[in-house]
Amino acid sequence: MMTTNKQQQLDKLKDKIITDKVTPELASQATQLVFGEGNPDADMVFIGEAPGKNEDIQGKPFIGAAGKFLNQLLEMINITREDVYITNIVKYRPPNNRDPLPDEKTAFMPYLDQQLTIIKPKLVITLGRHSLNCFLPQLIISQVHGQPKRYKGRVYLPLFHPAAALYNGGLRQTLINDFVRIPTILNQI
Ligand code: URA
Repeated sequence: MMTTNKQQQLDKLKDKIITDKVTPELASQATQLVFGEGNPDADMVFIGEAPGKNEDIQGKPFIGAAGKFLNQLLEMINITREDVYITNIVKYRPPNNRDPLPDEKTAFMPYLDQQLTIIKPKLVITLGRHSLNCFLPQLIISQVHGQPKRYKGRVYLPLFHPAAALYNGGLRQTLINDFVRIPTILNQI
């Protein structure tokens, strides 16, 4: 499928989230929808939890402190944000950066699933526990981080969330160690 075609489908999906009035409570408190961005033909899609303050203001995922760290991690494996696709489970900022509620995650899952169906990445990289457990609820991040998991026709790579790793030296190194293995993992899929 051509990139433009995929981009058109993604644009349509973005509009559908608005016309379907997904999580109207969250929508009414957020500045805007943060749908996701990047290469619609990416091999890798990174999925975080929900937009924070900066993301809400600019309408782009992962542009605050956690996003800067994610950029550095990508640099370590010689790729840029433009090469990959980045999004979140929940696409409106929860008030005061609270954790997204189970209902909010459930409401967005069909749209996230369609986003992945359009992009068809080789690897779906979940960032943090919330993101992992939306796809693979039985897995525990501390036990499975860095290990690719095949499930229902997709390959998932659970990683710790860059925000959690930012302020914890041990987790930070673990995340770096897992991240630098991404090219090898991709080659093996
Ligand atoms: N944390 C997330 O999970 N997503 C963002 O977009 C930013 C921070």
